[in-house]
Amino acid sequence: MISLRTCRKTMWRSIVWTTKSWYAISMKNGVNIDPGRRRFLKQLGVLTLAATFWTACKQTARRWVARFSGAPATLGHRLWVRDFPAVTREEQVRFLIIGGGISGLTTAMALDKKGIQDFLLLDMDEQPGGNSRSGSNEHTAFPLGAHYLPIPNREDEALIQFLRYHGIVEKLDEQGNPVYQERALCAAPQARLYIRGKWQEGLIPQYGVTAENHAQIQSFFQKMEDFKARRGADGKYLFDIPLRKCSDDASFQELDQLSMAEWMQQQGFSAPELLEHVRYCCLDDYGVGLEQVSAWAGIHYFAARKSHQDNVLTWPEGNGYLANLLAGHLKGRGRTQHLAYEVTPGASEVEVKVFDEAKNESVLIRAEKVVLATPQYVNKYLLPKANIQPEAFHYAPWLVATLVLREMPAGSGLPLCWDNVIHGAKGLGYINAQHQSYALQHAKQVITYYCAFDGPDALTLRRELYTRDEAYWQEFVLFDLRQAHPNINNWLESMTIQRWGHGMISPVKGFLSGSALRTARESMHPRIILAHTDLAGMSLFEEAFHQGISAADKCHDLH
Ligand SMILES: Cc1cc2nc3c(=O)[nH]c(=O)nc-3n(C[C@H](O)[C@H](O)[C@H](O)COP(=O)(O)OP(=O)(O)OC[C@H]3O[C@@H](n4cnc5c(N)ncnc54)[C@H](O)[C@@H]3O)c2cc1C
Repeated sequence: MISLRTCRKTMWRSIVWTTKSWYAISMKNGVNIDPGRRRFLKQLGVLTLAATFWTACKQTARRWVARFSGAPATLGHRLWVRDFPAVTREEQVRFLIIGGGISGLTTAMALDKKGIQDFLLLDMDEQPGGNSRSGSNEHTAFPLGAHYLPIPNREDEALIQFLRYHGIVEKLDEQGNPVYQERALCAAPQARLYIRGKWQEGLIPQYGVTAENHAQIQSFFQKMEDFKARRGADGKYLFDIPLRKCSDDASFQELDQLSMAEWMQQQGFSAPELLEHVRYCCLDDYGVGLEQVSAWAGIHYFAARKSHQDNVLTWPEGNGYLANLLAGHLKGRGRTQHLAYEVTPGASEVEVKVFDEAKNESVLIRAEKVVLATPQYVNKYLLPKANIQPEAFHYAPWLVATLVLREMPAGSGLPLCWDNVIHGAKGLGYINAQHQSYALQHAKQVITYYCAFDGPDALTLRRELYTRDEAYWQEFVLFDLRQAHPNINNWLESMTIQRWGHGMISPVKGFLSGSALRTARESMHPRIILAHTDLAGMSLFEEAFHQGISAADKCHDLH
């Protein structure tokens, strides 16, 4: 990275050099110029040159302002190398929760609510929250991963109770519908789509769409409304959240065996704008596009949420806000930079070896029960003898970039919204991190760009994500955004890039109804309780939350 300071130094050297050289050349050529005029011309020439160089320097400096955020992935990678120091200390706790993402934090919150005090939560990162962690700069907080929670279904009592406890649900109205805190509801204008050179309102393509394609879009959404209400032979909704509430009607199997692309084709949906919109939605929730995602999961995106309130709950730090509320229940019973690396269940207790990164020491923790709130690819290393098949789990890599801009470049059509999507772009557009702020003016504009890397070979995509440098990813992000903001380079001051190698579990075709997921959900040992969105098959806040609630119930049952 070339810093502005280096540029300034180089410019100064260049001015001195240019002055000397110009003088030397004019003397050598015997040019006879009046000394006063000559001095003036000399200064003019030098200043012009310096100004050009300075502009070039500024552009260069602006071109190289990205940095990777968070701790390097090396601590997690030590699980493979297993180069930990020998255990020097022992500890005892009743319940040990490994993993401080939403699933683990919810387990802790629910234990706390049950009055169970004797537990400890460990996370390998510097901050709890997992994929829902957040960051901040001098201008605002911003999400590093998950950024919103759609309005929950009113039947989701546990989640609504949690939101109510923290004031996000203020009360229930006469019909029993939650009334949400105004500052948590995404303020208008919520979303815009850049299509055919213009920002239109809302994400469903309208601008320049032919009447025929428009009719297809309407027919698609009518079908989704029908799916919302449809129930299986067992009386349960076909599509619901959490997933375990869904009907296991035969149509579940059938739809899961198809890809969303195949289903769309079968239904005669071919309008390019519709296909692109559905691709965007699947990437947004599952990290994979139409060709890979199961049709059941694709429809779930549109049909599982029953609220008529078409809005989301969001904060400047995204779901980091919710993660922090959950972490408040730890009350000193959480430790970060603690990597669990070996779990040995026994007849009367579980032994867990943990590496404390800050102290560079290994500790043995004995627990009555262990909650593994960790993904399957990690569990494989923790319990090498267990029947865990992480290769059957598709994890989508993600890149999230937070850009500080001197100003938001203007464009044709609707002005900046919370969610800003570019039709047909590689990424999923960007969120305005300051949208929920009450400040009337901001010194700088902060936006968060998202990109999920879809493709069958996630390993290669993941490798690329980690091996390419900051400059490469900065240009990647700017290239994508230039489609809607051609001069965005000129406005960029800094960029923070968060890489999620195993961003989220993807419900690819056949996965939700397949044997690998079924096996993973089975109890591997009476003293080990599993809680992670991997086991839901979809990486959503609600799923993580319910993984945690049921893990705490299991601890309680066994208590
Ligand atoms: C870019 C991105 C955007 C997203 N956007 C949204 C969104 O807007 N809304 C939404 O609902 N969902 C979103 N998600 C999904 C989000 O991942 C889930 O909502 C949820 O946060 C998953 O929580 P979890 O606890 O199941 O898993 P994780 O977040 O994976 O948590 C696992 C935790 O375990 C820790 N850990 C792993 N191994 C060890 C070990 N050996 N020892 C100790 N600790 C360990 C990790 O550090 C991590 O904190 C997004 C995901 C990504 C990647």
